[in-house]
Amino acid sequence: MRLILLGPPGAGKGTQAQRLADKHGIPQLSTGDMLRAAVQAGTEVGKRAKAVMDAGELVSDAIVNAIVAERIDQPDCARGFILDGYPRTLVQADAVEAMLSERNIALDSVIELVVDDKALVGRIVKRAEDAKAAGQPVRKDDNPAVFEERLREYYKKTAPLTGYYYAKGRLKTVDGMASIDAVTAEIEGVLAATAK
Ligand code: AMP
Repeated sequence: MRLILLGPPGAGKGTQAQRLADKHGIPQLSTGDMLRAAVQAGTEVGKRAKAVMDAGELVSDAIVNAIVAERIDQPDCARGFILDGYPRTLVQADAVEAMLSERNIALDSVIELVVDDKALVGRIVKRAEDAKAAGQPVRKDDNPAVFEERLREYYKKTAPLTGYYYAKGRLKTVDGMASIDAVTAEIEGVLAATAK
């Protein structure tokens, strides 16, 4: 199964991707996690991405496309993967199409988590509080000021992807405001219907 999860920051893509990955035994490919790992490891990519990520802006298409192209060739992706936070621009969406067709593999579904913007800042603040309470590192971009920029970037560059996939007849939407379990169930329903 090859799946793209779309939605603004804080929509629950990561939570759902992780659940689906566990259930279906395929990896969750979060470009945000991969970039944070590169920053942590101090690699060349990490050095170039850090300031951009801290400001809530998008890292260049070239960097992100290269990371994903390399990742999907790993053996654990052979049975499928869930793209979480990628693609985020039209250039990236075209790159996914090219990557998949070069490898003769098809995308099964593009699912957008539809959420109410007003709830998002609250979710991000809670994510930061939960991480702190659990003794985990708090993401530098999980604060209201940077979040505003992340949401602006989303509307400018990522929201057009819903039209892109709708036009291809691929877009499915799910109510991202429901409980975590209900969202998972709705996604599973979409996947089952798509598989038929
Ligand atoms: P995320 O964990 O998905 O919220 O991503 C955190 C940050 O990583 C974003 O605000 C961007 O700076 C960067 N990032 C993650 N995925 C992408 C992507 N597909 N394209 C560009 N930048 C990305």
